[in-house]
Amino acid sequence: MLKIGILEGDDIGLEVVPEAVKVMKAAAAKTGLKVEWLSLPLGKKAHETHGHTMPDSTVEALKSVDGWLQGPIGHNAYPRNDPTWINPPLRKKFELFASVKPVKSYPNLPSVHKDVDIVFLREVTEGMQSSSVVFAGSGEFRPNDDISIGMRVVTRKGANRVAREAFEIARTRSRRKVTSVHKEPVYRLVCGMFAEECRKVAQEFPDCTLEEVLVDGFAMKLVMKPQQYDVVVTTNQFGDILTDEGAGIVGGLGLAPGLCVGANQAMAQATHGSAPDIAGQGLANPYAMIMSGQMLFEWLGRKRNNSQAAEAAQRIARSMDRVIAEAKVLTADLGGKASTSQMGDAVAAGV
Ligand code: NAD
Repeated sequence: MLKIGILEGDDIGLEVVPEAVKVMKAAAAKTGLKVEWLSLPLGKKAHETHGHTMPDSTVEALKSVDGWLQGPIGHNAYPRNDPTWINPPLRKKFELFASVKPVKSYPNLPSVHKDVDIVFLREVTEGMQSSSVVFAGSGEFRPNDDISIGMRVVTRKGANRVAREAFEIARTRSRRKVTSVHKEPVYRLVCGMFAEECRKVAQEFPDCTLEEVLVDGFAMKLVMKPQQYDVVVTTNQFGDILTDEGAGIVGGLGLAPGLCVGANQAMAQATHGSAPDIAGQGLANPYAMIMSGQMLFEWLGRKRNNSQAAEAAQRIARSMDRVIAEAKVLTADLGGKASTSQMGDAVAAGV
């Protein structure tokens, strides 16, 4: 029995998360997978009921689950300087160390390139993001008005675990190739440590190949010939930029799912925000949230040796491929006329 949390978040989160749950429940029913679903308050609604956008009861309950779906948070609209209105720092709180983002093109959907099928892994607990690298204080400071200083952190543990996840994912794919993206010749110590750990882990996966590409050249090659990449692993800041570039070459935000993984838990979270401009109208494309849920099942299948979860993930992926190829029930951003729930229904019906 798996235990999965449902955190809808704000705005279109209230529309796309239920579609992902609907599809996951349909796939679980087909494979006999038993799941206990736990609805937990988060975001604006949680503030109405619990006086906080991330209630303690939600954090406590998440400690007991195998994974959860998190809808987008409309934090730009939250009141400033009020500690009860925060963008829930769940990734940091639960030490979810890698953000996994697939970038996949579809033959019949507009995209800059076709035949693209990449999985990006971005390390998210270290690097240059000041919120990630310090426990207290700030990773940036300005000793006088003419100088600003920021720091970058790479640890062996952090680099090793994201590299390991990358190779484990590569092993499930036909090309079995990992591209480690860094700039070791310039950042000899920080990028150097990341590159060293990737090489070390590669030795434990002799059935996979490791390729190393410098980040500036990689950014160019990704735009020119993305088909050459399979699994790509990189540090926090580089990954922040490259994953958006990746989403851009296959059709943008509506088609960008994601999974944040930790040692024992994972969080399914689409790349897009809460889209307040289209919220409540049934216009939101549920693809990214549904496929984030699919990734959660795939990850649980692999980590828990749960063949029913793995099969449920495959069923969702195949059904989504069919719904997109048939192009009969797609939302407006994909060129169709269907509502959010109609597209969710179509994927659920085909699992
Ligand atoms: P956004 O991703 O919400 O929207 C950008 C554009 O893409 C909008 O035109 C929107 O309508 C469209 N869009 C986004 N998702 C879509 C979907 N599933 N289907 C169809 N169209 C979609 O980005 P934004 O407007 O910059 O931010 C809106 C709010 O979301 C802000 O409060 C921001 O802070 C928040 N945000 C949250 C997260 C998160 O929780 N992970 C991520 C990014 C932004």
